Amino acid sequence: MAELSVLSAASECWPLIKTGGLADVAGALPAAVEPHGVAMTRFLPGYPSVLRALPRKRTLFRYDSLLGAPARILAAKHDGRPLLVLDAPVYYERDGGPYSDAMGRDWLDNGLRFAAFAKAAADLAAGRAGLKRFDVLHAHDWQAGLAPAYLAYNVDAAKRPASVMTIHNMAFQGWFGADFFPRLELPPEAFSIQGVEYHGGVGMLKAGLMQADAITTVSPGYAEEIRKPEFGMGLEGLIVGRQDRLHGIVNGIDTAEWNPASDAALAAPFTAETLPARSLNKRAVEDAFGLEPGEGPLFVVITRLTWQKGMDVLLEVIDHLVGLGGRLALLGSGDAAIEAGLHAAAGRHPGRVGIRIGYDEPLAHLMQGGGDAILIPSRFEPCGLTQLYGLAYGCVPVVARTGGLGDTVIDANEAAMTAGAATGILFSPVNYEGLSSAISRAVRLYGDEERWQQMQRAGMKTDNSWGRSGQAYAALYRQHKEQR
Ligand code: ADP
Repeated sequence: MAELSVLSAASECWPLIKTGGLADVAGALPAAVEPHGVAMTRFLPGYPSVLRALPRKRTLFRYDSLLGAPARILAAKHDGRPLLVLDAPVYYERDGGPYSDAMGRDWLDNGLRFAAFAKAAADLAAGRAGLKRFDVLHAHDWQAGLAPAYLAYNVDAAKRPASVMTIHNMAFQGWFGADFFPRLELPPEAFSIQGVEYHGGVGMLKAGLMQADAITTVSPGYAEEIRKPEFGMGLEGLIVGRQDRLHGIVNGIDTAEWNPASDAALAAPFTAETLPARSLNKRAVEDAFGLEPGEGPLFVVITRLTWQKGMDVLLEVIDHLVGLGGRLALLGSGDAAIEAGLHAAAGRHPGRVGIRIGYDEPLAHLMQGGGDAILIPSRFEPCGLTQLYGLAYGCVPVVARTGGLGDTVIDANEAAMTAGAATGILFSPVNYEGLSSAISRAVRLYGDEERWQQMQRAGMKTDNSWGRSGQAYAALYRQHKEQR
């Protein structure tokens, strides 16, 4: 099988920089596609944490001006595989997160910061920035969305690599006003319906979706949903128009990072055969969250605190959850009003509800290894990774029936329980009635230890590795390379 070269451009990559699932996916993809004859090189913006974590790097290419600021492309290695970084201090050398300052306010120049990243990705992929041309450019989310447009408008068709655009979340589209267009160094005709123009301004995700040879999203369920206005968020027409190019490929999990038998973040590693060892992890979670021991299930939540994740609905059901004998440990950060509501709930239920505001990767692992059930009441969920980690760790997912959640969890209805296939609880709609009755079902099922353990084991046996999905991406790259 001929080797295929792919440049994967994403604004996050575990373990170098992470705010959500995009990082996990961008970090895991190279190993997932490698067995299928794909050599993947990752490309990342040079945030301070990324530059610090890569001591050995060499300059591959210099821009006197990349959309107005000096920049260098640096070459390094990470997990033994090539990694390229865009070092542009004017754009990335600042404290805070990748998209916002320490107070959570978006950087005002995010348009330019990621247009520059996308332009450099296109230059690299086209063989104009110190390396030979790649076969395929794989662009992730709006931050890399302009890359397929730069290929389409700035590179001759004969020299253009194929391009794949992946939607990790349709809610983030990267829209900027019309006055931004002249900064992009694209020809005037790119400001059109076929190009980057969207509602009178520049739509970065839209541009990528319009120009890429293939579009993927991170589950078959979400690929269906985004054809409809409730989920397409204005881009449903474009998606329907290009549906012959759309593929739903479910995310896998990195089974080296997320393996309960060898996870160093756990108080007690375990397997499906040693489930009682989980009780030590549970105790460690109780300690970390100041919870009293109890008979009922320990529910955990690990999430961004946003409307998408249904966290306003969670606030409404906390009293019900505690009333049934349940306890809750929540790790997350985000919306200030939701944080305040959570603190109030913890105040009402000392020893029963524990809250940790912030981002803590080892604690997230421990919660999956010690919690009885993970609650995910998302209004929409392109794939979702926390339910996959829950399955792998025997932390039974209680999830909304949407997107990737519906694709990856098998509901504990009578038929599935009898067949031994059930792995969790699915519910709809996402409101008080839906979530509170799902919690009631979970508490009832938890009371029957044998049936609960049967669900835990079925989840732990589910294959959520990258195997099939890595193969699906490789097949897609190959198909579009051959069509070029
Ligand atoms: P999204 O990308 O929409 O935030 P996903 O479920 O796809 O949701 O991915 C979330 C990822 O971020 C998971 O790896 C999850 O464990 C992690 N995560 C979310 N919030 C936190 C947090 N506060 N601390 C540690 N990890 C978190």
